[in-house]
Formats: sequence, C-alpha cells, structure tokens
Amino acid sequence: MSQTLLEVENLKKHFPIKRGLFSKTIGKVYAVDGISLRIHRKQTLGLVGESGCGKTTAGKTILKLLEPTDGAISYGGEDITRYDRHEMKSFRRKMQIIFQDPFSSLNPRHTVSSIIAAPLEIHRLARGKEIEDRIVDLLKKVGLPSESMRRYPHEFSGGQRQRIGIARSLAVEPELIVADEPVSALDVSIQAQILNLLQDLQEDLGLAYIIIAHDLSVIRHISNQIAVMYLGRIVELAPNAELYTNPLHPYSEALLSAVPIPDPAIKKKRITLKGDVPSPIDPPAGCRFHPRCPHRFDPCDKVEPELIQVGGDHSVACHLRLGE
Ligand code: SF4
Repeated sequence: MSQTLLEVENLKKHFPIKRGLFSKTIGKVYAVDGISLRIHRKQTLGLVGESGCGKTTAGKTILKLLEPTDGAISYGGEDITRYDRHEMKSFRRKMQIIFQDPFSSLNPRHTVSSIIAAPLEIHRLARGKEIEDRIVDLLKKVGLPSESMRRYPHEFSGGQRQRIGIARSLAVEPELIVADEPVSALDVSIQAQILNLLQDLQEDLGLAYIIIAHDLSVIRHISNQIAVMYLGRIVELAPNAELYTNPLHPYSEALLSAVPIPDPAIKKKRITLKGDVPSPIDPPAGCRFHPRCPHRFDPCDKVEPELIQVGGDHSVACHLRLGE
C-alpha cells in the first residue's frame, strides 16, 4: 500500500443559518457531516455524488479553504486541523485546487504569463528571467506552446483554458490537487484529453488527486479509489474496480446504472431515482437515502447506518449489507 499523504477523520462542515436584526442562528446547513478518508501519494481518489451532496464543500474543507466545524485533518502525519493562516502557509503550496469553470477562475485582464507568474512570485519560487523559463516549462508540461504566454484567456478554447488553470496550480510544485469537476464544462471529446493530461502529470510529478465529479463515467479510468457521497456523508468507499463491478449501496448502483457501456451487446437497466437530494438543512432521519431508496425496509427511516468495512478496502453504509 502506498504512503498516506492526507487523512481526514469525521470531518464536518456546518454553515449556520442566521435571521433577524441580531443575526440569531436559527438552523444549520449540514453540508459535510462526518466523512473519513485517506489519500495516498501518487494515487487518485474519486469523490462522486449528485449536485448538492456536499462534495465541493468537502474538497474545500479538506484543503482548509473552509474552516472545519469538527473532525481532524492530517497532512503528511501532521495535524493541521486548527492551523491558522500563518501556520498553513507552507501547506498551501502543497495543496492546490483546480476549478470547474476555467474561464471564471482566470482573470480575463491578465495575460497567461502573469496568471502563471502570480503564484511563483507570491511564494518567491523564482525571480527575473527564471520566472519566464518556469512559465515556458509549465506551458510545455500542459501541452501549450510558449507563445501562449502573451495571450489572454478569452483567446483560448475551454480545454486550453483548463490547461492554463492546471499550469497555474503546478507552478507551486504541489503534492495534492483537488480537481472540482475539472471536465464537466468541456465537450466530451476534450474531456478525455484533460483526464489523460492529469494522468500523465501524475506519473511525471508524483501527484495525488481528489477528483470531484457528479458522473461515475468521468472518474472511471483515473481513480484508484472511489468515495460515493450522499447528503454530507460517504455511503460507499471502495477500490475502483470493486465499485464498478460490485457496488453495494443502492445509491451507488443507481449512479452506476447511468454509466454508458461501450458494448451494445450488454444491456443493463437504468435505475431512475425519484426526487432530488433532500435539503442538507433538515436531512431525513435514519438513512439519509431512505426517501429515495427502492430497497428501504423497517430500520431505514429510524436508524442511521454506519460506514462499515465489508471486505478488503470496501466499506458501505447500508442496513441491507450488515453482516455481509
Ligand atoms: Fe436503502 Fe435502507 Fe440501505 Fe438506506 S439503509 S440505502 S434506505 S436499504
């Protein structure tokens, strides 16, 4: 087993809901409500779930871009949960984020050169001519010509802009990148190119990734491990091949049934879930998935199932699977 880079234990992020003249707290949004996972060096964890399940908040809280409400985060064996801005400085470099929409995350008034130079200057990683050499090298790494440095974001296609975003995050030589829906804004034909680029960079630079996606087909070929998230909780955690061949949670089964199979001879039934993800302000009692679950039975609306290891590295939170 590869070395653990980052570990989160019972991580929670709740947002208070305030009302009235005195901003009285009248409730909470339970966006992330007790997740535990490990990310290994040079490995990819896919974090998947419908929109509203808390995966983006989980990604930001893991990186401490949002302060956790509870739980623990350790990086390289060091507990960073309560580190302040100053104490986080050396960790910021090591943990980067790539956003879903490359256009909105790149300043349209800045050239590619100044976009990539900014993190190099902030972290004092290069100066003078060295900066230009680093930019050329980073552009090459992400498959863009050096002339790109004098152009502006609007002059590039969506896929090229995502490459610029990746070059900017690589500038500080990170160890871990959280990629939040990195290809969902791109054409299907371009998606594979960006995922291949991420894989090549992982091999060359030894990066670890958390790739957040709403669609299991996107992370199929890039993830070593997959965590399925529903309403602030991880409901299934398994090695990639295990999850695709033997999903144990009814929610994972439904997500998987929507993944197209390239062989037309293989027919599978699509499981359509009724309704939307319920509000994280007032999650359902018992199993949070019970109002939509086709298999719910007696204890499901009363007792919340724990995430339990059912064999090897495969864990699931479902009463159906207790004792398996
Ligand atoms: Fe369905 Fe019950 Fe399992 Fe929840 S615990 S996923 S409601 S069978």
